[in-house]
Parts: sequence; C-alpha cells; structure tokens
Amino acid sequence: MSVAQAPVSQLKDGISTRIDALRPELERIGRDIHANPEIGYEERQAVGWLTALLREHGFEVEVGVANTPTAFVATRRNGTGPSIAFLSEYDALRGLGHGCGHNLIATASVGAGIALADALDRFPGRIQVIGTPAEEGGGGKIRLIRGGLFQEVDAAMMFHPDTRTQVLHWALAVTHMHFEFIGRAAHASGDPEKGINALDAFVLAYNGISMLRQHIKEGARLHGFLKEGGTAPNIVPERTSGEFLVRARDEAYMQELVQKVKNIFQAAALATGCSVKLTFDEDPYSDLRNNSVLAALFEDNLRRLGIDPVEPVPWENAGSTDMGNVTHVVPGLHPTLAIAPADVPGHSQAFLEASGSLRGYQAMVDAAKALAMTGADLLADPSLVEKAKAEFRRP
Ligand SMILES: [Zn+2]
Ligand SMILES: [Zn+2]
Repeated sequence: MSVAQAPVSQLKDGISTRIDALRPELERIGRDIHANPEIGYEERQAVGWLTALLREHGFEVEVGVANTPTAFVATRRNGTGPSIAFLSEYDALRGLGHGCGHNLIATASVGAGIALADALDRFPGRIQVIGTPAEEGGGGKIRLIRGGLFQEVDAAMMFHPDTRTQVLHWALAVTHMHFEFIGRAAHASGDPEKGINALDAFVLAYNGISMLRQHIKEGARLHGFLKEGGTAPNIVPERTSGEFLVRARDEAYMQELVQKVKNIFQAAALATGCSVKLTFDEDPYSDLRNNSVLAALFEDNLRRLGIDPVEPVPWENAGSTDMGNVTHVVPGLHPTLAIAPADVPGHSQAFLEASGSLRGYQAMVDAAKALAMTGADLLADPSLVEKAKAEFRRP
C-alpha cells in the first residue's frame, strides 16, 4: 500500500463504522418513508425527515430549490476540492407506494453524505446531498439541472434497488405522450350514421403502433393505455384519451419514433373523421451514460464490503430514469444493489415488500458505504475526478 493509499483505507474503515452507527436513524427514516408514500412533487414528509437528519449533522440545508418545494440541497464544504453530490430520490408510485424502493435511495444517499462529510477535515472539497423529487415521470432532476444545481458538481452518484447487484446501468430515453381523439356522439342504434367514433380512432392507432413495433430498432419500446373509452354502450364514443410512452436507446432515435407515432395517430384521426390532440412532455428523459472511472471505483468498494456484482448484460431489462439527464451534464454513477430474487418484477407488490425488508435495509447500508467510499476516493485523489471528467467529455 502506498503512502497515499493508507489514509484512504483508514478513511474507508471510518466510513463503514460511521454508517453502521447511523443505521438505526437511516432505517427509521426509510421505514417512515415506506409507510407514508408520497407521489412526485408531494414528498413533504420525506423531505422533512431527511433534511432534519442532515441539519443535525452539520449540513447547511436549502429546501425548495429550483422553484420546487420538495427539492433540496444540503451542503458541507471545506476549502476547495472535488464537489461530490449524492442524489436522494423519495417519490412513491401512484397507487403502489414504494414499489420502486426510493425509500432506500433516499436514506442511502443521506447516509453517504453524512459519513463522507467527516472526511472534509482531512481532504478539502464539497459534499452535497441533493433531494430530487418526482423521478417516476415528473422529471425532478431535469428541473434541478435547469435550475443550475449541477453546474459546479464534479460527480453525481446514487444507487437504485433491483434484483441484481450491477455496477453499470443502462436506461432508455423516454418521452410521454397524452392523446385525445374527439368525434361526435350519436345514438349507437338510432343514428349511427351521424356519429363519429373516437374509439375506432383509438383502435386504429393502437393497431398501427402494434404494427410499427416490428420495424423499430432493438431495445426501443412503445407502450400505453386507454384511459377514457366512452361513456355508455348505446352512445357512439365521442371522446377517447390515454397515454403512451416512447422509449429508445438514444434521444435522436426516440425523436424519430415520436414522429412515426404522431403520423399513426393523425392517420387514425383522418380515417375516422375525428380530430386528435397530442401533447408530449417538454422534457424527455435521456439515456443514461455510464462513467467507467466512477464505476470502477464503486466496484472496488463493493468488493471491499464483500459484495460481488454480476457481469452486466447491456440494456437487459432497461427502464428509464431522469438520472439519465444528469449523466449528460456531469459524470454520473447509478449502480443497482439486489434487494429481491431475480423473478420479482419492478413496480410490483413483491418489490414493495422487498423495499421494506431487512434485505432492503442491508442493501441501503451497503450502498451508502460504497457510495461514500467512492466519494472518499475522489476527495483523496482529485486526479480521479479529472479522469472521470475526461471520459465524460469524450463523445
Ligand atoms: Zn420506478
Ligand atoms: Zn425507481
């Protein structure tokens, strides 16, 4: 071990001890968040609990950043050095509570921030815990990017619970479309010739999407549902509405697919005589860019904790995350830690239970440690930050 490595190794031992000591508080908050699910942009209690703990540990906390009441930034700094951000997600799924395990993300990042901030005495820098609301479709991180919160961040890190412990992560670019077909109501038996059927328009569009699926690139996804399909069987449906998601491995191809989807919906409107209104999210989620420098450090730290990650299969079971957008503005890290067996689907009742299980909280502690240790590597050797940034700058 070189002279430079010795203090880092001690530092990591200290981080581990510190997080073990913090565990009861982190777990209590994790359980409170799990038991009191709040959907995107309504996470007031979660923000209250997390920021109270950060304040107790000497962080300067600002709640309501980027004009977003449930976003926060907690900062501790000492002099000039690497600027490291741990991102804390805490929103629940509508109707399913913490079926994505964000209660564990929230507390892991807070624990990592608190433990790493102890190191600032010896290694100058800035540690932040950034509270990022509304990951499940609201794009909280995109607001924070626009609010300038990542301008001085050198590395943004978080973990996500999963069924696999995997260091690299792939996430698809995605955009969200709302559609509405308007036709004309009429007595379905007495005056059908006077009606314009908005359900027919939807069925045509749905079939068009199904056909398009054969001719899209590997990994792209088109899926959605009908929210309003009519009001009564004896009335020609006047209005139908619903939502679709368009996903692809990069934003450019996603935009190409968006144009095809628009064409399909407009063709269905033309064929049936309906009018159609399509509205898209202003801010699509970007694909996620891995950073091999941060990933390698995190992997070493996981192994130090006795955890062996699996070999990743690129794009396998890929979803989407607004962390993708963050990885397009700063070097980012988004590994996963297993909290449930491989056959458990995400966004399910079983995953909700795993997110509140002992295994879940153990993964939260392990993630907090490995994240903080990765931060320690950067604080102790700022040339690693430069390496991560050099990779980030390469197209
Ligand atoms: Zn989710
Ligand atoms: Zn999630």
